[in-house]
Amino acid sequence: MHEMSLVQELLRIIDDVAERERLRDISRVTVAVGEGRQVVDELFRFAFDNAKAAGAARDAVLELEFVPIVAVCNACGGRFRVEEHRYSCPSCGAGETEVVEGEDIVITELEGERKNDDH
Ligand SMILES: [Zn+2]
Repeated sequence: MHEMSLVQELLRIIDDVAERERLRDISRVTVAVGEGRQVVDELFRFAFDNAKAAGAARDAVLELEFVPIVAVCNACGGRFRVEEHRYSCPSCGAGETEVVEGEDIVITELEGERKNDDH
């Protein structure tokens, strides 16, 4: 399952952000997952819960927000949602389209306590 490698990458980023922002006890992680990444909700959560123990997100609850795939047509400029792998333009039928949303996995929110041990 590719969810495990995605989660490990995600946890690395969370650790970096926690370090930089001096966050501890991260309680919630919100992640926007592009539907184009073919992530399975339960597998992603399972991988997260298994891998989080070592890092800053060890007690965090994971929130997933799925982002639909959106493409723009190179011929007519139309913007449309890609469903069931139909990437051709529904307006003019052109096959030359470009995906502009729904291909990324992005941390949108990190909730935690800020360390204040530097005084
Ligand atoms: Zn078109």
